[in-house]
Amino acid sequence: MREQTRQPAPLPRRIVIVGGGTSGWMAAAAFSRFLGEGWYVRLIESEDIGTVGVGEATIPQIQHFNAGLGIDEADFVRATQGSFKLGIVFADWLRPGHRYIHAFGGIGRPLGLIAFHHYWLRHCVQDGADDLWAFSATAQAAAQNRFGPAPAIAHAYHFDASLYAAYLRRYAEARGVERIEGKVVDVTQDSASGDIVSVTLDGGLSVEGDIFVDCSGFRGLLIEGALNSGYEDWRHWLPCDRALAVPCESVSPITPYTQSTARAAGWQWRIPLQHRIGNGHVYCSDHMSDDEAARILLDNLDGPALADPRPLRFVTGKRRQIWKNNCVSLGLASGFLEPLESTSIHLIQAGIARFLQYLPGETVDTADRDAFNAQMDFEFASIRDFIILHYHATEREGPMWQHCREMALPDSLAQKIALFRANGRIARFNEELFTETGWLQVLWGQGIRPRGWHPLADALSEADLAEFMMLAKAQASQQAAALPTHEAYIAAHCAAP
Ligand code: FAD
Repeated sequence: MREQTRQPAPLPRRIVIVGGGTSGWMAAAAFSRFLGEGWYVRLIESEDIGTVGVGEATIPQIQHFNAGLGIDEADFVRATQGSFKLGIVFADWLRPGHRYIHAFGGIGRPLGLIAFHHYWLRHCVQDGADDLWAFSATAQAAAQNRFGPAPAIAHAYHFDASLYAAYLRRYAEARGVERIEGKVVDVTQDSASGDIVSVTLDGGLSVEGDIFVDCSGFRGLLIEGALNSGYEDWRHWLPCDRALAVPCESVSPITPYTQSTARAAGWQWRIPLQHRIGNGHVYCSDHMSDDEAARILLDNLDGPALADPRPLRFVTGKRRQIWKNNCVSLGLASGFLEPLESTSIHLIQAGIARFLQYLPGETVDTADRDAFNAQMDFEFASIRDFIILHYHATEREGPMWQHCREMALPDSLAQKIALFRANGRIARFNEELFTETGWLQVLWGQGIRPRGWHPLADALSEADLAEFMMLAKAQASQQAAALPTHEAYIAAHCAAP
């Protein structure tokens, strides 16, 4: 058998990004940082079309993205009118008047082989106490409006998404990414393979590429418009399909958490930035009119609205093939999950990281693309399950809530709930995004109670268990109490000019 040596792919390889919202500029910045000289990156965007203009709350993983680019935290927060985020407060989700937080970071202290919460479950029975969040420094800090970058304080950010995109644009352009202003009006494909060869702009310019990155937003101009990837519709599990977004004047204190308040047929977000508060109402159009949704939103603002509510429509779900032929989709072009757990920007980042991991050479290998798609599918589905849990495990009344309580769940989620109900165990698979502590807080916060706990938690004597719990609680509250207020921290380190 004759051996063949693989020839290096011709350079430079040309990447064309279509779309300059958060996803387009995140991709451009990452490519400019991690691909070498052999890659030529261009980004096409249309000021006439604009961006979706929402997307202000994040999860801690964004720190890895920014750190990978070498971005300084204080500089970034200042430039984006940002604030720090310690978690998401869920108000009225279990029932009106109830409140809990999904705080970032760990809870309690490690002891032996099993997770802290098994000891805590036993402690609940022994001492009748059930405040899980007393053992989280992050939750305590959030409740007291404190923030500081102490090692145990896991955090993310709230920021103005258009300022973040502009920040990344400056970063990417300084590293050689070429920006082209114009509207894509046509896509040329190879007649045999279906691969995209070029896109044509309204002025007639044709932009050729080897790889195309579809960041064109909900319309999925390339992945759907040209390549007909297809869409998996998840509205039977997550029936909300509209949102209204409106900024209002800022009020003090700037809270270091996102708030999500359940409403009659959806929920309202509150995202505090330095210069304003971002608000929005996500709702199900089968059960609420646009006028009523707007009234509820405007009746529940902290300060005067700074604009009229902006309507948005979406279909929850994902592309059947997020990467098809020589086109990978990112952001809204790849799918949409409502922002209940602030996961969309994370999905962009995960898509970019995976694409770099499976970066094609001269041609796209099906095995690489299938592995990428399988991992993205899993990530979308596991986040979907986490969001469904909030809607399903609730005592709220009203037709939408009743539907969500009674609907058949995805097997993956039904198994997670059953496992937790049995002995408080939480199983995570593959590279699942949410941690054991994340699942624990939402399972517990939404009222699901285990029948038992891991038997190894019985190994401690009652006195030792009580002392262990007392120390863990004291440690959490001391850590939180040692932090400055969130506003004082921003004023000292990253106040926007
Ligand atoms: P877009 O912002 O829509 O950008 C699309 C780009 O494509 C634009 O630059 C546009 O000009 C360009 N374009 C389109 N068509 C053409 C064409 N023909 N020619 C040239 N250019 C074109 N995410 C979070 O992480 N946290 C949140 O709190 C959050 N809240 C959200 C709330 C709502 C109601 C919604 C709908 C989304 C939210 N998201 C959130 C998601 C977040 O907004 C998006 O993931 C993020 O903004 C990325 O959008 P995008 O870049 O994919 O698309």
